[in-house]
Amino acid sequence: MAHIQQLDATLSNKIAAGEVVERPASIVKELVENAIDAESTHILVEIEEGGLQSIRIVDNGIGIAAEEIGLAFARHATSKIQSDRDLFTIRTLGFRGEALPSIASVARVELQSSTGGAGAGIVLEGGKEVKRGPAEARRGTTICVTDLFYNTPARLKYLKTVSTEAGHISDVINRMALAYPGISFQYVSDGKTILQTSGNGDLRQVIAQVYGRNTAHEMIKIDGTSLDYEITGYIARPMLTRASRQYMSLFINGRYIRNFKLAQAIQQGFHTLLPIGRYPIAVIQLKMDPILIDVNVHPAKLEVRLSKEEALSEVITTSIKQALRAEALIPEPTKQS
Ligand code: ADP
Ligand code: MG
Repeated sequence: MAHIQQLDATLSNKIAAGEVVERPASIVKELVENAIDAESTHILVEIEEGGLQSIRIVDNGIGIAAEEIGLAFARHATSKIQSDRDLFTIRTLGFRGEALPSIASVARVELQSSTGGAGAGIVLEGGKEVKRGPAEARRGTTICVTDLFYNTPARLKYLKTVSTEAGHISDVINRMALAYPGISFQYVSDGKTILQTSGNGDLRQVIAQVYGRNTAHEMIKIDGTSLDYEITGYIARPMLTRASRQYMSLFINGRYIRNFKLAQAIQQGFHTLLPIGRYPIAVIQLKMDPILIDVNVHPAKLEVRLSKEEALSEVITTSIKQALRAEALIPEPTKQS
């Protein structure tokens, strides 16, 4: 048996990358989240060959100070939390300080950023800095990821076709656009614009862009508040259903999450109006005190722990029922319902 040794940073980042960077779409997710956390109002995502060739993200956010550009790629280096206490009141999408070092350990990364004044640029290969220099003084950040998984052959082999990977990236961007109607997103794949949103804050408009005009037309607004929760969004009239659960999008404090119980709560709201094997289309945005939600469960933060899941389910079901009733799609309750 060999002696116990502490792994060097490059190797430990590569191990972390196994969790954070599953495929090109996971990189896009992490980088768009960074752009959102940086208060960007315009985010451009450009990919080539399903992201396998290149991923380029341009934002107009607050930028990274020139002297911190190297630190951004250090493991567990983050500007988003500082103390134990912050970990329980997360208001940003990121907080682990793992995405940039993980991505850089399995690809070539070029980043340029400016906080408004003189900018700085950095190039990393295999997690190691190979170049640094000045950059344009345009507020915001541009990050370019190429040569993905060149040094992790098993992961490279596991990737699917260009169109599958591009589809996963599309899913990520669609969800981000639905979660943030106030941000203008542009998604360009192999030179073709796939999605472009205005950023004017109108969710129905984003729904039209993502799911089509006809679907958007069939959507009804939901709106509800309880002591702990605020719920807004749209659901499709029950004559419009899908054969898959993935058209139910749920966002908690701006984060897309997957949660079986809450998805069931949405379906319950439709009561008996859903044919067997059919699922609703819904875009639901929940706002709550971050203390009620633990996002530090899953490296990609897709799953979260909710402290009052039952109560929240109830709010979701009730709000949907109310909206359907207001449209006379389900009858008024008699005594109990
Ligand atoms: P996290 O998002 O968890 O903090 P990351 O590794 O994704 O960790 O990013 C590290 C840090 O780099 C962030 O905390 C942030 O300060 C900075 N950063 C990354 N991307 C951007 C961006 N697009 N605009 C401004 N700052 C950024
Ligand atoms: Mg991040």
